[in-house]
This record gives sequence, C-alpha cells and structure tokens, in this order.
Amino acid sequence: MRPLALVALVSTGLTLAGTSQADTVVVTADHMVDVIAGKVVDHPQITITDGRITAVRAGVGSAASLTPAGARHVDLPGVTLLPGLIDMHTHITTDPRFSGYRELEFTDNFWTVVGVANAKKTLEAGFTTIRNVGSSNYDDVAIKQAIEGGFVPGPRIVPATYAIGATGGHCDWTEFPPSITAPAPAVADGPDAIRATVRKLRKYGAEVIKFCGTGGVFSKTDSASGQQYSLTEMKALVDEAHMLDLKVAVHAHGAAGIKDAIRAGADTIEHCSFADAEAFALAKQHGTYFSMDIYNDDYILAEGAKNGTFKESLDKERTIGLKQRQTFQAGVKAGVKMIFGTDAGVYPNGDNAHQFATMVKWGMTPMQAVQAATVTAAEALGRSADVGAIAVGRYGDLVGVAGDPLADVTKLQSVAFVMKGGDVVKAPPTATPPPAQSAEANATDKQDIVHVVSDMQAAWNRGDFRGYMQGFKNPDVVFVSGGRFQQGWQSTLDHYIRDYGTSTDSRGTLQFHDIQVEMLAPDAAQLISQYELLRPEHAQYGINTRLMRKINGHWVIALNHVSSSESPPPSR
Ligand SMILES: [Zn+2]
Repeated sequence: MRPLALVALVSTGLTLAGTSQADTVVVTADHMVDVIAGKVVDHPQITITDGRITAVRAGVGSAASLTPAGARHVDLPGVTLLPGLIDMHTHITTDPRFSGYRELEFTDNFWTVVGVANAKKTLEAGFTTIRNVGSSNYDDVAIKQAIEGGFVPGPRIVPATYAIGATGGHCDWTEFPPSITAPAPAVADGPDAIRATVRKLRKYGAEVIKFCGTGGVFSKTDSASGQQYSLTEMKALVDEAHMLDLKVAVHAHGAAGIKDAIRAGADTIEHCSFADAEAFALAKQHGTYFSMDIYNDDYILAEGAKNGTFKESLDKERTIGLKQRQTFQAGVKAGVKMIFGTDAGVYPNGDNAHQFATMVKWGMTPMQAVQAATVTAAEALGRSADVGAIAVGRYGDLVGVAGDPLADVTKLQSVAFVMKGGDVVKAPPTATPPPAQSAEANATDKQDIVHVVSDMQAAWNRGDFRGYMQGFKNPDVVFVSGGRFQQGWQSTLDHYIRDYGTSTDSRGTLQFHDIQVEMLAPDAAQLISQYELLRPEHAQYGINTRLMRKINGHWVIALNHVSSSESPPPSR
C-alpha cells in the first residue's frame, strides 16, 4: 500500500464514520464492446455504484483523476470488456455424463448439488445471467435463492422450473414401462389443465414458462419433429402466461409446431431445427426470437454413447444436427431475431461460450453473435433495464477478454475477467498490480490499519453500529468475512440495529485481536470466494477467524473478533 493511499484511508474512516457511503468501483480497460451501437470503444471507464452502472465514458482509460474519491479501481490493461453474457437456454441441474438410464443411479436432490457446482462454473465462464428452461424439484428456484442470498456463487437466474408438456411428449417421463408410474409434475392435457399448470409453476417461482411444442431428441417413443400440443392448447398456455406477465419459451423442432407456437404468441422458439421460410416470415411478423443450440451436436455425437444416451436419441440427433445448422444460417440470412441459447446440460455447463464460434461459422458476424448473447437476449427476457449492455442503470455485470474477441470469438471461451453487480468474480493477475513498498511503509501501513480497527472496536462498544460498519466500506481495506457480512453491508447493519439495538447486554463487548495482516484488495470478492475463510474448528468465534496472507501482492486483513459473551479462540 502506498503511504498516500493510507492517509486517505485513515481520514476517510474517521470523517465518514456515522454517515452512509456508497460503494463505488471504477473499471478501466483498453477496449469495450458497445453492443447497442454495435461498435468497439477505446479506453472505456465504467463507474459502478452499489451494483449498478452510473457512468460510462470513452477515451479515458485508467486516468485516476476521473476516479471518484473513495472508489475502488480495477484496471485491465490489454483487455476488451463486454457486457456479462446471457445464455437463454440452460439446464444447470444436469450433467451430460449421466444420460439415459444412468440418471436413475442418483437420489433426487443429487441434481440440486450438481446445479450449485454448475452455477459457479457458468458464472466464472462469463455468463452472468441464464434462463434455465427446465429442471426438477424447483431446483432452479432454490439455486437462484441461494445465489441471491449470498450462500453460493452463480449467475442471475430466470427459472422456468418444470417444462410443461403433453402426456407421452418430450416433457413427460417416457423411459418407464406402464407398471412404473412416474407422473411428471408438469404434464398437462387440454387448455384448462395447461392453464392450471402455468398458475402452479408461477406460484412456486417460475419467471418464464417453458413448454414442449414438439418431440425431442432425448425423449423415448416420440419423433423429434411431431407436434405435441394443438394450436388451441398453445394459445391457452401463452394467454395464461402473458396474463401473469410471464414470457413463454417453446421447445420445437418440427416446422408445424414452430409455426403454431409463433401463431399462439410464444416469445422464443427453442431449437427450431426444421423451421422453413414460412416459419421465418411468421417469426419476423410476430417479433418472435429463435434460440438455436447449434454447438452441442458435436458433443452429443462424440460422447453420447459413452454417457449412456439412448441409441434412439443418438439416431435422432444425427438427423437434426446438420439440418439445424443449415436452418440457423437461413434464419440469420432471413433476418429472424436470434438469441444465444446453448442447451448447456446436454453438454457440460460452463462450456456455454463454445457456441459463439459455431454461430460465426454458420453465418453470423462476431458482433451479431455477441449481441445475441447480450442486448438481444435481454430484450427477449424483457429485462433490458437490468442486463445485456454496459449502459447507465443496468447492473455492473462485465466480462473481460484478453485481446480482441471480435477478431476471434473463441477468446470468449476463456474470459479473463468477470464482474457481477460490481463484485469481481474473476480477475487476471495483472488487474491490480501490487504497489512497490518499502519495509518501513509496510510497518506504517500496519500501524494505521490497527488504528482503523481500533476505531471500529470503539464504535461497536459505544453502540455506533454504522460507525463500526464503516470500516467495512473503506475502499482501501478489505475485511474478509466468512460469516454474516456476506449478506451485504446494509442488511448486516440492519441486523445489528434490529437485534442488538442500544442494549449493551445484547451487543456484548467487542474485542478485535490476533490481527495478522491487512490491506487493499479491489478483488476482495474473488479472494473471499477462493479461500476458505472460517476455520471450522473455531467457527463459533465470530465473523473473522482466518489468517490471510499476502496473496497476489494484496494484503488482506484477517482478524478475529469476539464479544464478551464468547470466549476468545485459543492462540495459534
Ligand atoms: Zn433444453
């Protein structure tokens, strides 16, 4: 830490104690893809305050003069920034290595756990938003809640819960003999039953309705192209969903099912394998989006037999793979609105970005492919106010790629930087170069850190919770917390005020001790996610119980605190 920064740190801590302070981070890089204008901007500077973008400037770069006082600064030399990516068709609770009857080897909630792991992989791959169009047990809602609660890392999730379908159709469970009754919870026949099912799924957390309009590849007994709901049934479903303010995604390979789904008013058509010129014209007329998973054929045919995929599924895939890519090419040429949907889950979650290269190979410009996964996807979600572009008002969801992703879209398969809501999820080692510092400066830094910590301790002990929490907001100091602080600054403060109030008895006496190391880490969120913070054997001793060391040139504070109602942890 530079001594100058330290002075600012200490005075900030003292001056602002007792007042509220926004959390601001400034990101600078070499280039930025402006997906709305469809162009690349040089030397962008993006300011994010309390999770949302508050300013976007070009031609600024890392000029420190424009960084607001107290803001964290993340500089990304050599990096091109894009908006956080959006995959409109995922199944995060699926693992393709367990296909066909192999899925039955596991207990139901195994797949929830798989989903937790996949959510992290998906986010780290640069996909900060996903639309999950089909999972069991309302798992996608559970995982969304856990991500939003700060329990596990993952993208923003728009959950469909179960996919609705006809008896014996692609969204029924078709792999059992009649003596094994396994009713899929969202099988519904006829308009009334379909409407009731839409209502039920919304009640339990669906934010988009997915239904199966035709057969599919992974179901037994049906043909992929055959239509499975009548136009009347589709209309009932779409009307009900739209009445409830939900958009509708339709699984449809065959042309007849695609066209009826468009006529019924569906918002997005998934797969679209056998769409013809009439389907393109209808889609353009109705403003319907096509979501075409044109990468995964490579994976399914290469790995399917080994994974246990039904032979008939592999046979179906062979009739669809090439045709679907040709249809994609024709659809792009015809001007159908295309969104990026991969069907991740039938191939490994986390490999979502592999599809960009296939989209470019089959007729899109790199910019069009990126727009399909950002600005156009956000439109199709109805969430352009929140995601899909680096623009004022939207979430601070950013992805950074070393070099030029528009010259080579395969670079999107290994993003160097991911930020979600202003929090760094993944950063290159060069993002925050370690400041050179002398031994004396280091000692002074530590001394000043002790002052900040002492002030926090004193604030707590006089019942000034806001003053105490201010220490956590200090832009130059990161207190790594494995406990309730991960609920966020405001909710932690609210918790203290609500539960401890002004009573000395209930708040106890705070004593920081065992202060080990300290410092500045703009990438604190990443450090928090990378390292196990609670020493399990001492988890009862309060929020900070882990010694952190100098990591990638950043010092991180690790200290223990205990209240008088607890005994101090044994010394190490
Ligand atoms: Zn799917």
